[in-house]
Amino acid sequence: MNNWLDIIQDWLFPPTCLLCGDAGTERRDLCAACAESLPINFPACPRCALPLPVATGIPCGNCQKHPPAYDSSLALFRYEEPVRHLIHALKFHSRYACARLLGDMLADRLANLDDKPGVIIPVPLHPSRYRQRGYNQSLEIARTLAHRLELPLDYRICTRLVATQAQTELTAEQRRRNIKKAFAVTKPLPFSHVAILDDVVTTGATVNELAKALREAGVQRIDVWACARA
Ligand SMILES: [Zn+2]
Ligand SMILES: [Zn+2]
Repeated sequence: MNNWLDIIQDWLFPPTCLLCGDAGTERRDLCAACAESLPINFPACPRCALPLPVATGIPCGNCQKHPPAYDSSLALFRYEEPVRHLIHALKFHSRYACARLLGDMLADRLANLDDKPGVIIPVPLHPSRYRQRGYNQSLEIARTLAHRLELPLDYRICTRLVATQAQTELTAEQRRRNIKKAFAVTKPLPFSHVAILDDVVTTGATVNELAKALREAGVQRIDVWACARA
């Protein structure tokens, strides 16, 4: 049954590379050449996913000095072209196909986890930003990821209390202040291990504040998953 649906879907909407327009491969909107060009984020800090020059397996200097509120991070790519293009197309031009592709690639990377979280929590947008954009890009990526990993997804566990200034225009220190106490956990959490999903982790300030709120709500282990790390 599923096979037939796939065949019909491929015939009606053949996979097309979102980066160059060539034919996609393996039911994915990405061609082999563009897939090769993606900037895999390795080696990286296991705690905050900061790109590092060599793989040491130990947290970066900053994480050793100021351990973040989350336990580990995995960011699939470095935030460079052409990944930046995919994320922009999703975030600012409603290209949902980019969310499916990013979620699908992240799922490949996370497919063999020994210790799965109980739930995936996409970083919430403030309601005013949500109204403006009409969707939450992290939630859209999380839908594909949750489906592929067979994990529940919950976007109502946390809310964003403060309509923060666009983080991109701020320095690292301004970001930290800007995002302070920006999140609240709004319902009891039946999970001791969760994964936060963000599209891009820039300084880690946003996921850190969300992790603090989850920690206060009693979560024991918090992993951060992201498509890209600046
Ligand atoms: Zn291509
Ligand atoms: Zn680190």
